[in-house]
Amino acid sequence: MKITDVRAYPLKTRTALVRVFTDEGIEGIGECSPMNVPIMCHFVEQALKPIIVGKDPMDVEQLWNDMFMRTYKLGVMGTQPSCISGVDIALWDIRGKATNMPIYKLLGGAARTRFRMYKSIGGGAPLAAEEMLERVRQAHEEGYTAIKIRMDWGPYRQDADPEKDLRMFQLAREFLPDSTPLSFDANNGYSVSTAIRQGRAFEQLGIYHFEEPVPQYDYEGIKRVADALDVPVSAGEHEYTRWQMRDLLLQGAPDILQPDVVKCCGITEMKRIVTLAETFDRSTLPHQTQPTIGTLASLHVCATSPQSSRPHEFSGERPELNELFEEPVLLEDGFMQIPDRPGLGLVINEERLASLIAE
Ligand code: CA
Repeated sequence: MKITDVRAYPLKTRTALVRVFTDEGIEGIGECSPMNVPIMCHFVEQALKPIIVGKDPMDVEQLWNDMFMRTYKLGVMGTQPSCISGVDIALWDIRGKATNMPIYKLLGGAARTRFRMYKSIGGGAPLAAEEMLERVRQAHEEGYTAIKIRMDWGPYRQDADPEKDLRMFQLAREFLPDSTPLSFDANNGYSVSTAIRQGRAFEQLGIYHFEEPVPQYDYEGIKRVADALDVPVSAGEHEYTRWQMRDLLLQGAPDILQPDVVKCCGITEMKRIVTLAETFDRSTLPHQTQPTIGTLASLHVCATSPQSSRPHEFSGERPELNELFEEPVLLEDGFMQIPDRPGLGLVINEERLASLIAE
């Protein structure tokens, strides 16, 4: 089998969709991180397509090596790994379709195929505590049985309003049943001392995991926070390769690693990162904001790891995006089931795709 074409489409849903075509009529689909969709699509078609056209799509790891090393000087953070992600996911989809197996089977089999998903509620920074409570209430009514509130401070607004964050967490925690885990994501917005003080207060109230308490580049600071607190501290959504994850683990020592399959060079590299986490006896709790292809690709990898049992991130359904697929994979009672179909388990509806492609 040979790869004949690679196309990347900007969708109106702010999605960078990748399609890899072959001479045997088998097609794979993937998705890049949506940080800048036109740039992602351009990179896939200009930088990656020439490297893999004419090659055998079953040689996934060798194609990964080619794509990564031959575009190394164009990235290694951000665009390059995100674009490799989109193509790599599509190659695994082809591999699954060609062998009539779900991707998790090709990766060695599933420890589980059904996942509890947590609702990730973002945009906390400008909200009043009561407004966030309303969103938490809504997610609870939608049937979610695990929730995370996200501040989106970023490393450039350090310690902006920790008292409000704490009040927000407290209101949400008091509203939710004890059986619903509640996590908190500072989105890199605290100094080390504030993060430790906040973390201790969250622990008193009952917190499930404390995400990115300090700036993502401050590995030493992450370690000081993780060492000081009992609550599992997580980080890793800003790491793009297994080497960066290794450095984060050795220097930052977070309790939980958070690779994102549409950012960290795809399924090939994420599987290695999951193995790295297992090697250090850490759990993997992926970062994932893309509700269809990205979510499924992530679940296929995490299905293989017994140490990836925590509820997974979900930003909520997007009806227009679900309609892109013949049999969308939907959330049911707060859970998601990986379909027992070849590859990712998603089939594109061409008519709907045509209507979703951005001008
Ligand atoms: Ca996060």
